[in-house]
Amino acid sequence: MDQLARLIILDRDGVLNATVPNPLEARPDSPLRVEEVSVFPAVPALLRRLTDAGFLLAIATNQPAYAKGKTSLAVLQQVHERVLQGVQSEGGIIASSHICFHRAEDGCDCRKPRAGLLNAALARHPAVDRTRSWMVGDRATDVLAGEAAGLQTALLSDPLGVERRALAGAGAVGPSFCGDDLQDFVCFLLAAPPHEK
Ligand SMILES: [Mg+2]
Ligand SMILES: [Zn+2]
Repeated sequence: MDQLARLIILDRDGVLNATVPNPLEARPDSPLRVEEVSVFPAVPALLRRLTDAGFLLAIATNQPAYAKGKTSLAVLQQVHERVLQGVQSEGGIIASSHICFHRAEDGCDCRKPRAGLLNAALARHPAVDRTRSWMVGDRATDVLAGEAAGLQTALLSDPLGVERRALAGAGAVGPSFCGDDLQDFVCFLLAAPPHEK
């Protein structure tokens, strides 16, 4: 090996699969039932391209719904399995998944914006070049976690700038890249011309 591998840690909901509108809350929810899992159509081929290009891929996701009493741990795990099945369906490989099942008020070290999940991913794949590895997400908390772990950061799908304003308020340096979706990020990373959308 002439070069260390690069790891791309992907947030899950809103990056790989759609979130689910929740009329009772300001933010949409993660899918809470297997039937609600909807992988974005472009994602399986994009992950295949990243895998083919030699990138290691991992997922880091906060999933507090069980701790909040909204669903069971078993169902949350089934939902994650369904996402994995969908996103890897064209040959892309998710090397590891790192899930925080706590609530914000539990004060754990793993819940993003803390870096615990990302450091766990980096520990699982020790032979990677951290400064050329990435955290890719759709929330300010993803970018903050990425910065705390010493990674490059990509913020996707922030059309109104809400997350960028939150980052500015939190004194963040990044994000290093902003785009509409995972396709924008992969085109940037692989230096391919942007696709027609
Ligand atoms: Mg997300
Ligand atoms: Zn946690």
